[in-house]
Amino acid sequence: MIVDTDLESIIAEHFKEAAKQFPELEQCKSQSGTPTVEGELRFKATRDQDTIDECFSVRISFPDDYPLRPPYVEELWGRIPRYGTKAFHTYGDTGHLCLGAPPEVSEKFARHPTLRDFIEKQLIPYLFLFVNDFKEGTIELGPEVERSHGAKGMLEFYVEWFGVKGHVQALALLKFIVEYGYRGHMACPCGSGKRLRSCHGEVLKPLHLHRTHDGMCVDLVSIYLSLPESERHEIPFQASLLGLIEKLVLESKSRSTKTRN
Ligand SMILES: [Zn+2]
Repeated sequence: MIVDTDLESIIAEHFKEAAKQFPELEQCKSQSGTPTVEGELRFKATRDQDTIDECFSVRISFPDDYPLRPPYVEELWGRIPRYGTKAFHTYGDTGHLCLGAPPEVSEKFARHPTLRDFIEKQLIPYLFLFVNDFKEGTIELGPEVERSHGAKGMLEFYVEWFGVKGHVQALALLKFIVEYGYRGHMACPCGSGKRLRSCHGEVLKPLHLHRTHDGMCVDLVSIYLSLPESERHEIPFQASLLGLIEKLVLESKSRSTKTRN
């Protein structure tokens, strides 16, 4: 695998800054030759007078377009259970920690796009939450850290981002952006009767900065499929949503055959 030298130098620079705060992290290479940052992450963190003094072994990997997109993290000592009733927020297939709904992680990262900030503002809060979940007595945490996993967490994110009541409106807005992108003159899909630009336009517009079109398609399909049958039937535009989903699935199939050839 060829690694972009620009990417390598950005990671090296970000690593240097992070290592000042976390000196037990090292710059390494994965088996495929891509740069990683690995080692022991030692930290003290406090929230609501609750302090933890902790150490986790982590491997941080970087996407090809870093720092446009955030890094991802694995926990190497197996402290964070991935399966069973005690499973904590992780992706079963890759073992990467699920730090939040992807667009939310991306949006937070875009505000502070460095490795050190990523560790301090996203990874450590996640580890803090994990440690506290396994202690006696739970502490009150805001919804932005305690988000459900998978499609449910994704739906919670969109409901909050759009500022809507529930899945029907969230899906309506998500479906709109997937189909049309931003069209200020069209009627707002929330059903208010106003034009998009004077209703949900302001929250719809910046979403593409944090989630690719493909990503939003995946979110739309997975949220829909995660709903119980009864809730799916409640969606007034169910038929056109199903049509769109079918189209998206066909498109992604034809794309994956094309890339294979
Ligand atoms: Zn609206």
